[in-house]
Amino acid sequence: MFNVLRRQFSTKISVMAAVKSYDYLVIGGGSGGIASARKAAEFGVSAGLIEHQRLGGTCVNVGCVPKKVMFMTAMQSEMLHDSKYYGFDIENKGFNWSTIKKSRDAYIKRLNGIYERNLGNSKVDIIRGHASFTSDRCIQVGDQLYTGKHILIASGGKPVIPNVPGAELGISSDGFFELEDIPKKTAVVGAGYIAVELAGILKELGSDVSLFIRKEKVLRTFDSLISENCTEELKNSGMNLVTNSTSVSLSKESDGSLTYTTSQGTFAGFDCVIWAVGRTPNIEINLDKVGVELTSRGDIKVDEFQNTAADKIYALGDVCGKALLTPVAIAAGRRLARRLFDNKPDLKLDYSNIPTVVFSHPPIGTVGMTEGEAKTKFGEDQVKVYKSTFTNMYFAVTERKQKTVMKLVCAGPEEKVVGLHMQGLGVDEMLQGFSVAIKMGATKEDFDNTVAIHPTASEELVTLR
Ligand code: FAD
Ligand code: NDP
Repeated sequence: MFNVLRRQFSTKISVMAAVKSYDYLVIGGGSGGIASARKAAEFGVSAGLIEHQRLGGTCVNVGCVPKKVMFMTAMQSEMLHDSKYYGFDIENKGFNWSTIKKSRDAYIKRLNGIYERNLGNSKVDIIRGHASFTSDRCIQVGDQLYTGKHILIASGGKPVIPNVPGAELGISSDGFFELEDIPKKTAVVGAGYIAVELAGILKELGSDVSLFIRKEKVLRTFDSLISENCTEELKNSGMNLVTNSTSVSLSKESDGSLTYTTSQGTFAGFDCVIWAVGRTPNIEINLDKVGVELTSRGDIKVDEFQNTAADKIYALGDVCGKALLTPVAIAAGRRLARRLFDNKPDLKLDYSNIPTVVFSHPPIGTVGMTEGEAKTKFGEDQVKVYKSTFTNMYFAVTERKQKTVMKLVCAGPEEKVVGLHMQGLGVDEMLQGFSVAIKMGATKEDFDNTVAIHPTASEELVTLR
């Protein structure tokens, strides 16, 4: 009895006594958390970072990185089909999914190690386990309590699984990266970045893909040129685009195949169904105990300086639900660390003119306002739009023809470029430089005054009439 009491007492004492304190304590070892913790450590403060899965977060493990490897795999396939038109006599003996999966997994493992070493080199303590707040502003990880003078929540998000019978028979983008072989027949449900990217990759690599969308077009929040052209390209690719369809149920047949029932009818024979209907924040960390508030959509509510409603507790990246992109989380994280520890009290991320690429086939690049947004902001008569549609010279000798579309949205008498939207071969690599110009406030005249680089697709942007 005495021993039991002593054990209970000493456990309590050890928990109470073990509170470890940092200047900066970060929840989440993904894009935003790692960038912010390492930047803070540069200023000589003590930093701890808590991660319950693999270092690198969504982007490295189940996002940008493995997705881009698969996008490039699909691009290889496209080039292989075109190679004969360029005079190459190549026998394509097929595609082996497991070869690229093994190389991809090995690459990601290397990246996990690099992230771990980089944190070590920066003298950031890595704390392994699930973090959750206690009522006294501590963070519990297993039996250990931690606290921070400043605390950052950068816990990211996870895929939404629709609430329909049998939904668990489908997979999300996380499951896509675990597939050991390419599905013969795939249903992709959703109309955003992930649906468009994964459907395109699978189609190009040989799966019989059906894409189910709720409305008439994909990427409806993008400029109308992009939304329309991308929808057309998906149809041109030969995939089955099922429009105006909402999910009813998913079921498994005796032969193991999946049957997907929608408002448009029943579609059978799938060996894989991928839900790509959005993401939701990771907020299972007892936020109520410390007074961190949520928005009506359930994301963490922050001001423009990434302050939450709780004193000295901050949040950034996907968990805040705004511009869910890796460079956004990194940029916000670094700025916050400099604001807190480098005496830069006014530093914050400017969320305007964030360039973004959808790795569709062909890719999409977009920055700034859509035509619609510009007209709402500046008035119809204050907005001038320049457009171009052409076939990239790459397709001059191939049987396959693919359009490139471009749009410049200009505002005011000086025709300031407030939006740039394009889809076509190579635009993914074209956008970054133009984004610098737009961020600096370039006008149409500045574009026109720039000598073209010939022959490229980008030259079109400085010769638009
Ligand atoms: P994350 O990177 O998700 O990091 C959060 C971390 O917190 C995770 O490691 C998680 O395990 C950890 N965590 C959560 N809760 C806890 C807890 N309680 N305790 C301990 N640890 C916790 N963006 C681009 O810019 N380009 C792309 O091409 C691109 N492609 C994408 C493709 C896919 C399929 C997906 C899903 C996303 C893609 N994104 C892309 C988005 C990008 O991955 C995210 O915007 C980015 O990872 C967000 O960074 P973050 O730091 O906010 O969160
Ligand atoms: P998105 O928000 O991009 O798109 C989800 C879309 O799915 C919605 O816009 C909606 O379109 C549709 N949808 C929503 N609910 C349903 C439903 N119940 N049934 C059918 N369709 C539905 O989310 P994603 O998951 O694709 O991606 C999340 C974020 O991750 C992106 O917004 C992006 O910021 C980031 N990301 C970035 C990438 C990149 O940089 N290349 C790549 C991948 C992700 P509608 O209203 O038209 O039906």
